[in-house]
Order: sequence, then structure tokens, then C-alpha cells
Amino acid sequence: MAEEDCLFCKISAGKIPADIVHETEDVVAFRDINPQAPTHVLIIPRKHIATINDLTADDSVDVGKLFLVAAAIARNDGIAEDGYRVAMNCNQAAGQTVFHLHLHLLGGRQMKWPPG
Ligand code: AMP
Ligand code: ZN
Repeated sequence: MAEEDCLFCKISAGKIPADIVHETEDVVAFRDINPQAPTHVLIIPRKHIATINDLTADDSVDVGKLFLVAAAIARNDGIAEDGYRVAMNCNQAAGQTVFHLHLHLLGGRQMKWPPG
């Protein structure tokens, strides 16, 4: 998919509204439109990367930042101590529906294992 057709590129560029909770030069985080937990935030690199399979070594720093932002938001939302889950779906079998890399941050309730 071309970047101009990508939903999350449009959110990153401010062309589509979102409930943004964190924004830097490289990373944007916004609340999921269909939350699966009291805290459900999507953390994305501004760079368009479709899936985990498309990552290169050049993306390592950006990927690391996704986790740092997740931990910061977890602290801000008051779920860091109780605990939370981060998850990234890759392709159809994992249920990926938006093909712009995104880390889910889920918390505020008891998580089950294994996930469905
Ligand atoms: P995934 O299934 O891992 O690709 O996750 C995509 C996520 O994006 C889902 O949890 C959707 O609810 C969420 N989503 C889709 N459209 C929007 C939107 N416009 N704003 C916020 N979250 C969205
Ligand atoms: Zn994109």
C-alpha cells in the first residue's frame, strides 16, 4: 500500500483526527478507536513500515523508541506497576488489519494468556 493511502500515515500527518497521547519527531501514539482494554494505545513510527517482516537494521532505533514510549504512557496512565501488555501483529494469521507497523499497549484489566 502506498503511504498516501495509509490510514496511520494520515493520522501521523494530522490529516485524520485521532486521540493523540504522545508525539515526537519519530513516533506518534494515539488511543485505539475500538479499545480492548481501559488503556489501549497504538504506538507507531512516523516512517511507513508495513509489517515486522519489512523492518531493516536501520529501523532498530525507531522500534526501540516504540517500547520506550509504551512504558512512558503506561506510567502516565497509572498501569505500569500493575502491569500491561504490548503486542504487535504481523500479517493475516496474527490478525493484522492496518499495514503500518504499530505496537498495541493494553492495560487496566487482567490479561489472559495465551492470547487468542
Ligand atoms: P491490528 O489488528 O494489529 O492491525 O490493529 C489495528 C488497530 O487499529 C485495531 O485495534 C483498530 O481498532 C485500530 N484502528 C483502526 N482505525 C483506527 C483509527 N482511525 N484510529 C485509531 N485506531 C484505529
Ligand atoms: Zn503508513
